[in-house]
Amino acid sequence: MNLIFLGLPGSGKGTVAKMLPQFTQISTGDLLRKERDSGSPLGKEIAKLIDAGNLVSDELALQTIESNIKDPSKQYLFDGFPRTVTQAKMLDPLLGDNYQVVLFDIDKNKLIDRLVNRRTCPKCGEIYNLLTKKPKVDNCCDVCNHQGLKHREDDKLEVLDKRFSIFEKEASAIVDFYKQKNKLVTIDADGSSDVVFSEFKKLLKI
Ligand code: AMP
Repeated sequence: MNLIFLGLPGSGKGTVAKMLPQFTQISTGDLLRKERDSGSPLGKEIAKLIDAGNLVSDELALQTIESNIKDPSKQYLFDGFPRTVTQAKMLDPLLGDNYQVVLFDIDKNKLIDRLVNRRTCPKCGEIYNLLTKKPKVDNCCDVCNHQGLKHREDDKLEVLDKRFSIFEKEASAIVDFYKQKNKLVTIDADGSSDVVFSEFKKLLKI
């Protein structure tokens, strides 16, 4: 089975995804940031969009995942895709009937502190929070010892409003799309990662 995670930025999708090693995580945000950081001409275009909190085109988002989901023996976990109904419709034939959608439900007002304090290791992707999950040594990754955790440009307060409103504009149509297909479960994402993960396991029977 494949999984699709939906939810506001900072709702905990990436954190739960990292607790599910049996799934191959496909994070369009991570893949796009990798291209941005390569400094390629495409990367420079991507940087302008994502650093300002805008979406890349549906075609580019699809291209980003397509080459990474070719192994039918793997179970994929989509984090950050689809972001529009068009993307949901593009993904559907690639997965057949073999998927479950999980909506991480949390009030956006609770997410500002999470995102402003989120730091990510650019080397291994481990996620920290300066209030609730600090690295043991300041600015150094516990997992891979990389020095220099990153505060994403688009996690800065000025950009968050735009990211939230883009999500809200598309979310209800995506949710309706998956509800009609009877594929959607909703979890309460307002809790520690352990609490959210145990609710997740109960609901999905994983
Ligand atoms: P994320 O790490 O999922 O919060 O994504 C960071 C940024 O990457 C988003 O704000 C968008 O600019 C871009 N992005 C990620 N996934 C998509 C997608 N499926 N469609 C369009 N843009 C995306």
